[in-house]
Amino acid sequence: MEDAPAKGLARKRLTTAELVDGVRAGDRAILGQAITLVESNARSHQVQAQDMLAQLLPHTGNARRIGITGVPGVGKSTFIEALGTKLTAEGHRVAVLAVDPTSGVTGGSILGDKTRMNKLSRDDHAFVRPSPTSGSLGGVNRKTRETLLVCEAAGYDVILIETVGVGQSETLVADMVDFFLVLMLAGAGDELQGIKRGILELADVIAVNKADGDNALNAQRARHEYASALKLMRPTTPTWKPRALTCSGQTGEGLNELWETIEAHRRALTESGELALRRKNQLRGWMWSMVEARALDALHQHPLVKQNAVTLEEAVLDGTTTPTLAAAALLRAFGIEP
Ligand code: GDP
Repeated sequence: MEDAPAKGLARKRLTTAELVDGVRAGDRAILGQAITLVESNARSHQVQAQDMLAQLLPHTGNARRIGITGVPGVGKSTFIEALGTKLTAEGHRVAVLAVDPTSGVTGGSILGDKTRMNKLSRDDHAFVRPSPTSGSLGGVNRKTRETLLVCEAAGYDVILIETVGVGQSETLVADMVDFFLVLMLAGAGDELQGIKRGILELADVIAVNKADGDNALNAQRARHEYASALKLMRPTTPTWKPRALTCSGQTGEGLNELWETIEAHRRALTESGELALRRKNQLRGWMWSMVEARALDALHQHPLVKQNAVTLEEAVLDGTTTPTLAAAALLRAFGIEP
C-alpha cells in the first residue's frame, strides 16, 4: 500500500468534526476533501476517514443508487449529462461517481481522460467526481462505496455510478446500487450470444442509446431483440421484470420514460421490502469481501507459507505428493488445521 499523502490533504488538515459538519452543510470544497480522505491509502487518513464515516452513517441511505454501464462510445457521458441536468432541473441533487478499471493500471483511463459532463460539472445541484486513480479493484470498490455514503450524507438524492463494461467492474457496481442500467447500441445483435450475456443478467433496464435520426428505427428493432432476450432470462426477483427501452442522450428522447421506469422499480422494490433487503445483503457481502481479501493477503504474505510454497508446488507438479497433502501442509504453516 502506498503511504504517500493524498493530494489536497497535505496542506491543511481538517478535524473530523469540521469534515462532518461541512459535508452535512453541503459545502462542496469540504465534500471534495472528505472524499479525498476516503480515497487515501495512508493509514492515518484511513483511521480518520472511518471515524468520519461512522458519524455520517446515520445520514446515509436516502439516495437512489443507480449504476450505469456500457462500452466506450455508447454515449455514457452524454447520457449522464442529459439525465443529470433533467434531474437537477426537477429539484434533485445528483452526484456522479465513476469506477474505471483501466485508470491507474495503464496510466490512462477510459472514463477519466476527456473533459466530460461540462454542463453538469458547473451545475450547483450536481457533483461530478472522477474515478479513484489508484489501487486494486478491491480498493476502488471500498473507495466508491464510501464515497457514495459521503455523498448521501451531503444530501445528494440521486447517485449515478458509471462504469465501462470491462472485466469485473460492472459486477462490482451492480453490487453497490439499487438499479442497474445497461446502455447498448443498435446493430450489436450478435453480441447477445457472447460475453454480453453476463451483463444482461445484471440489467434492470437495457436502454438502446442513440435512438435518434437515422438510427431511430434500428434502435427500435434492437429494443425488440433485447426485450425477447430478457424474457428468456429468469428474473432475479419476482417483483421486477427487466425491460428494454430506447433513448437518446443527445436529443433527450426517452429520458422521461426511463426515469419513470427507474422510479417504478424503486416503488415496487420498496413495497415488497426488497430494496431494504438488497442493501442489507450488499452490506454483508461487502464486509465479508473485505475480510476475505485481507485474509487471503495475509496467507500469501505469511513467511512460513512463502518459504514452503515453492517446494510444495514442485512436489505436487512432480507427482511426489498429492494436492490435498500439500494444501494441508501449507495451511498448517499458516497456523490453521486443515
Ligand atoms: P462514452 O464513451 O460512453 O462516455 O460516450 P460519449 O458520451 O463520449 O459519446 C461518444 C460519441 O457518441 C460522441 O461523439 C457523442 O457525440 C456521440 N453520442 C453520444 N450520445 C449520443 C446520442 O444519443 N445520439 C447520437 N447520435 N450520438 C451520441
